Amino acid sequence: MNSPGRRAPGGSLLPAPERGDAGSAALACFALKVDVDTFEGLAHGVPRLLRLLDRHGVRASFFIAMGPDRSGVAALRAFRQRGFLTKMIRSRAPSMYPWRTMLAGTLLPAKAIAGSLPASLREIASAGHEVGVHGWDHVRWHDHLVSMAPEHVSREIDAARRLFADIMGVPPRGVAAPGWQCSASSLRAVDAAGFAYRSDSRGERPCRPVCADYVARVPEIPTTLPTLDEVLGRQGRDPAALAERYGQWIHWDGLNVHTIHAEIEGGPCAAHLDCLLARVVPRLPVVTLEDVAARLTDVALPEVELRRGRLPGRGGLVSVAAST
Ligand SMILES: [Zn+2]
Repeated sequence: MNSPGRRAPGGSLLPAPERGDAGSAALACFALKVDVDTFEGLAHGVPRLLRLLDRHGVRASFFIAMGPDRSGVAALRAFRQRGFLTKMIRSRAPSMYPWRTMLAGTLLPAKAIAGSLPASLREIASAGHEVGVHGWDHVRWHDHLVSMAPEHVSREIDAARRLFADIMGVPPRGVAAPGWQCSASSLRAVDAAGFAYRSDSRGERPCRPVCADYVARVPEIPTTLPTLDEVLGRQGRDPAALAERYGQWIHWDGLNVHTIHAEIEGGPCAAHLDCLLARVVPRLPVVTLEDVAARLTDVALPEVELRRGRLPGRGGLVSVAAST
């Protein structure tokens, strides 16, 4: 993202990768991480994404928020946030989320996401994709993780793992923190639960994340590219033109992790993902995060402090794995 001639949109907190480490040529690939935050995303976005991914002949890693859909609370939070109106106008967010999602957990009851649609998780896996967990209560984790008691954080992780194992018959191997929110407690809880890898933060290369002097055991594979909702409007809106911009941000000789959302790329922005995959597939292997994790077993990963920082186009703070 930050190598000469390729700046991240709007500047970046993230340092350039070093040659010869886990972020460079040894791992030249494009991993697609699909966050499923809502009931609507699982019910309607995922089937559309499965068809689109099948058309391109690629596999992805789906991370499901396993508990209640309280997106309406997130909508209220966003409404109170600084710069909210500007972002709404820029990204045309009201057209990206249906009104049922904008009211879920406030005026409308909070539906169980995975619990209501267990067959959907099994369909993702039987289509050849990876399925992992994206926390239990996405909104609670996103808004309150930093102040949550350690036992409460463990309860969120354990509830997600238990339901996943009930539905899939095996425990999840991967976990992705809702909203890229991490704390020392969340690093500990994921380590204790026995995941094979985590994708919790934004960064440049795989690492062993550190928070408040706690060095995590489970490796971190961060999201390296900006998300579509962060660049939509700021970098244009046309699917082909945005795919071309992504072409400038992608490390064609390194590891790329791109997070998409079932609600966005599996909804009104399917054409953006279609154009992006048409550009990527001929040039890079598209892999799952579990594939990346398997290639890290013999790599000495650097210990990297997770900091809370802002990213261009995203409201609020996220955890950034930045080594400088
Ligand atoms: Zn999410």
